[in-house]
Amino acid sequence: MAQIELKQVEKLFGEKYAVKPMDLTINNGEFVCLLGPSGCGKTTTLRMISGLETASGGTILLDGENVTWHHPSDRDIAFVFQLYALYPHMTVRDNIAFPLQAEGMNKDDIDTRVSEVVDILRIGHMLKYKPGKLSGGDQQRVALARALVRRPKAFLMDEPLGALDAELRETMRAEIKALHIAQNATTVYVTHDQVEAMALSDRIVVMSAAEVQQVGTPAEVYYDPANLFVAGFIGSPGMNVLKGQLDGDVVRFLGNNNTLPLPARYRIPLLTTLDADKNVIVGFRPEAGTINADGSMQGEVYAVDMHGAYKLLHVNLGDVPDTHEPTIVHLRTDRMASNPMGSQLRFTVDPAMMRFFDPKSGKAILPSQTDQTDRQPVEVLSTTAEGQA
Ligand code: ATP
Repeated sequence: MAQIELKQVEKLFGEKYAVKPMDLTINNGEFVCLLGPSGCGKTTTLRMISGLETASGGTILLDGENVTWHHPSDRDIAFVFQLYALYPHMTVRDNIAFPLQAEGMNKDDIDTRVSEVVDILRIGHMLKYKPGKLSGGDQQRVALARALVRRPKAFLMDEPLGALDAELRETMRAEIKALHIAQNATTVYVTHDQVEAMALSDRIVVMSAAEVQQVGTPAEVYYDPANLFVAGFIGSPGMNVLKGQLDGDVVRFLGNNNTLPLPARYRIPLLTTLDADKNVIVGFRPEAGTINADGSMQGEVYAVDMHGAYKLLHVNLGDVPDTHEPTIVHLRTDRMASNPMGSQLRFTVDPAMMRFFDPKSGKAILPSQTDQTDRQPVEVLSTTAEGQA
């Protein structure tokens, strides 16, 4: 398996950037998702790595070798697409064997390799069928088997589960993860589904508008988003973000009497970053809020979503003075909690889970490294890939 390095790799279609200059190292054995909304440049990045698209600038290295100008077939990388791209007239066995036949491998070796991968993917019983007879999930398993059988240096997957229904997506997601752990194969996976990216990745590359917004583990992009885009894009719903103003030891929010205490570790970074008006954006995840009669935040329950294991409250904190738009935050509560629509509630926010953003740039303001008194260690959710710290 291989390390993939992108150095200032970019793609222009005419005058328009599909991918702005990008630096990224994908370590040997790592599973990296390119995540972002439609049109942000994920597929173009993947296609440049595969060689199906030529980079307009920059260098692509595969295990240290410059492959920027190599033909796709000379890169030893396997591509799995959303549409299974199986040959309909061939049996499952012949579909899987096809890349090895094309290389001129002898029949006995092909049989050994095919039987290895069909065991891994548990599709040995369908070798004689044509793809048209198979379910969507099984067709995608065959497509994965055809990629695996080559034992390529890396796998590139472009929304491979995009055409499957929700239940099958979840099953196949678990299978892809198990397969990755078993094979330890360097994998770059494109998706616009943040749940899929969080579940599968060692690291996530969050992209928007042709640009990388953040590269981090699922825990890092969730708990410590680099900017307001990542804060809103990751999580369902995204991070609550509120416009406020720093006032001594508290942040006061606009349009209501709500305040939150300023965590000590943010005091100096905020004072040195914010403008004279001390306007700031505060972020916190729905699970960071706790309903508490003594809480310094107050609002009216606007809607309640039952999610089975928990409830999600939509709470209106009051209208924004200029726009008269309601300021809605989401709070995650116990499934048995009773907070009917229209009721008032008070809540606190865990200071360890509060984040701050500069309203001018939208970038996160990082806490002081020397004062971590109210900093909670963030759980590491991902598996550690070889070569990562
Ligand atoms: P999606 O999830 O919808 O596939 P994406 O994030 O993968 O989106 P890309 O397909 O990489 O995005 O496209 C990035 C930008 O480049 C888009 O604005 C797209 O319209 C443009 N683009 C992609 N391919 C071409 C092309 N061959 N010619 C011109 N523009 C292109």
